Amino acid sequence: MIDAPRTSLATDLTIDQRRFWSTIEASAAIGVGRPGGLSRVALTDADREMRDLFRDWCVGAGYGVTVDAVGNLFARRAGRDRSLAPVVLGSHLDTQINGGRYDGIVGVMAALEVLRSLDDRGIATRRPVEIAVWTNEEGARFSPPMVGSAAFAGVHPVEWVHARCADDGATIGEELRRIGYLGDAPVGGRPLDSYLELHIEQGPELHARGIPVGVVTHGYTAYGFIVDVAGETAHTGPWPMDKRRNALVGAAMLAVAVNDIGWKYHASGGKGTAARIVAWPNKPGILSDSAQFTGDVRHDDPAVADAMRDEFMAALSDCARRSQCDMRVFDQWHWGADIFDAGMVALVRDSARSLGIATLDLPSQAGHDAYHVAKVAPTAMIFTPCRDGITHNNLEHTDLNATVPGVNVLLHAALARADR
Ligand SMILES: [Zn+2]
Repeated sequence: MIDAPRTSLATDLTIDQRRFWSTIEASAAIGVGRPGGLSRVALTDADREMRDLFRDWCVGAGYGVTVDAVGNLFARRAGRDRSLAPVVLGSHLDTQINGGRYDGIVGVMAALEVLRSLDDRGIATRRPVEIAVWTNEEGARFSPPMVGSAAFAGVHPVEWVHARCADDGATIGEELRRIGYLGDAPVGGRPLDSYLELHIEQGPELHARGIPVGVVTHGYTAYGFIVDVAGETAHTGPWPMDKRRNALVGAAMLAVAVNDIGWKYHASGGKGTAARIVAWPNKPGILSDSAQFTGDVRHDDPAVADAMRDEFMAALSDCARRSQCDMRVFDQWHWGADIFDAGMVALVRDSARSLGIATLDLPSQAGHDAYHVAKVAPTAMIFTPCRDGITHNNLEHTDLNATVPGVNVLLHAALARADR
């Protein structure tokens, strides 16, 4: 172990590129989906296989692995002072049903490569450095997304998380137990020095401009909604139009309304998303008496996002009247723009500058675990390019050369923070 001044390490300390990319390739073989993509949905057998492999790598490297009661996995590389709070690096290993090979995965493997690179040099940091793998980031099987990091930040109680139910009837608690990741570590409630998350941009800017590293300055302000729609079953033939209370139609009206709001603000980068409709009985020959709609609105300008939310609520009243259904907001979520720590954001920028790596300041439009962790620790994010911004799609693509600069920035930012 050496305690050399960082200046002597600053320029020549880099990751092992080949080793880093081999972990991405190993991940790409687990939970294979459509060609080129992954379908490694949270708490499935494929998720277990990936977790097992990752845990084995960490145990093999001598890191202390713990799993908490919502399945978040932590791997700790000890620091010189065990009493100090750790620097935490992480992201997620679950994917969408038609997901890519890089969303979340690059951030976890980058964190592992940072720890391994410190091992290579025998660098003993002052603080521990930890990898976090958050449970169910995508929300593809269990709603809401980012539920593991949210629980860690104290947003949801553990029992509430365990009770989240998938369409197949399984709950998070049952599935954690089934795959062996119902851990015994407490969820959150411990101090973190800081949190850094590297993630593919999931937008086109870095790739289009040929800039390797995005410094994430803030998030889009977003409002999400789950709306319960209550109607009444009836025969699709004789029942007159003016008596119909078709919940499927009410939910569909909401889908169109939120999409229209997105288009209204399209020129300034606003988004309105109809994400999901479930209806019951959802059969030919009968009108549906219940439906549930999930969607969201988001914008870079918080005031505009507020206006979009208000327009959605007004549209909800209108859709309820026209469909003759009762509509009730069953659940809603919100995140604001002001989430990241200015000092941490500056650290990312300065780390890149010291390595001679060009950066672009940009907001994050997607939700990330970092948003929740930011509630309990100073947090920043590093974006790396992905081709044409394509994501949540089997054609999602990036490569080693595009990604390595960001991982080296992560390494140096983590090291600076760990020696603080
Ligand atoms: Zn992700």
